[in-house]
Amino acid sequence: MDIPRIFNITESAHRIHNPITADKLATLGAALRLEPGARVLDLGSGSGEMLCTWARDHGIVGTGVDMSQVFTEHARRRAVELGVAERVHFVHGDAAGYVSDERVSVAACLGATWIGGGVAGTIELLARSLDIGGIILIGEPYWRQLPPTDTVAKGCLANAISDFLLLPALLASFRELGYDLVEMVLADQDGWDRYEAAKWLTMRRWLEANPGDALAGEVREKLTTEPERHAAYTREYLGWGVFALMAR
Ligand code: SAH
Repeated sequence: MDIPRIFNITESAHRIHNPITADKLATLGAALRLEPGARVLDLGSGSGEMLCTWARDHGIVGTGVDMSQVFTEHARRRAVELGVAERVHFVHGDAAGYVSDERVSVAACLGATWIGGGVAGTIELLARSLDIGGIILIGEPYWRQLPPTDTVAKGCLANAISDFLLLPALLASFRELGYDLVEMVLADQDGWDRYEAAKWLTMRRWLEANPGDALAGEVREKLTTEPERHAAYTREYLGWGVFALMAR
C-alpha cells in the first residue's frame, strides 16, 4: 500500500508537503497554546514536521498516520534527529477511518482531506478521536481569486471551480458544520513557491540520477511545464490555510 510513486519522487526532499512554511508551522503551534504532554493526532502526517517540531518546542506527544512509506520513514528519522522519538510515533497506513485509542487534544489533517471524503467528512472523522474541548485542525486550499473558468481551475490542478471556496465561504462552511473557528494561519505565495519550486530541483537531480526509470518521461515533462503552470495558476489563484476549529 502506498501513494502514487510520482509524489514519493517529486516530494522526496520536502519536510513539509504543503505551502505552509516552517515559520508558519511554528506560529500555528504557538497560537494553539499547546500544553506539555498534550496528545496530537495527525492524519496524512507526511514527513512528520508538524509533530516533530511541536514535540521539540511544546513537549506534545503525538501519532501520525501516513500512506507513504518513504515519507513515514523520513518522519521517523526526523523524530530521532530532533530528539523526540520517544514522544512521537509514525504509523505507515491508510488513515481513512483511523480513530485513536486515546482521545487527543488536537486532531489534525493538513492538506489531505480526501482521507475523510472531503472537509466535512474529515472533520467528522477527526472528531471521533477528539477529547471534549479539543481542537480540530484542517489544512485546506481556497480560492484567493475566483478562477474565471474551469480551465483556469484545472490549471490549479483542481477538477473544477466548485472544488474549492473563497475564504469567507470556507469559513462559513465551518460555522455551518457547527464549529467555531478559533485560530487560523494562512499560507502565502512565497509558501506556495517553497512547496512547488522545491519539487523542481528535486526532479532535476532525480532525472540526472535515474535517466532510464519508467517515470523519467513524466518527470521530464513536469520539470519542463510546472514552473509556468505554477506561475500562471496556482500561485495566483490558490490560497491555503490551516483552520483551528472547536465544536460549538
Ligand atoms: N500533512 C503533511 C502532508 C501533506 S501531503 C504536511 O503538511 O507536510 C498529503 C499526505 O497525505 C501525503 O503525505 C500522503 O502520503 C498522505 N496520504 C494520502 N492518502 C492517504 C491516506 N489514505 N491515508 C494516509 N495518508 C495519506
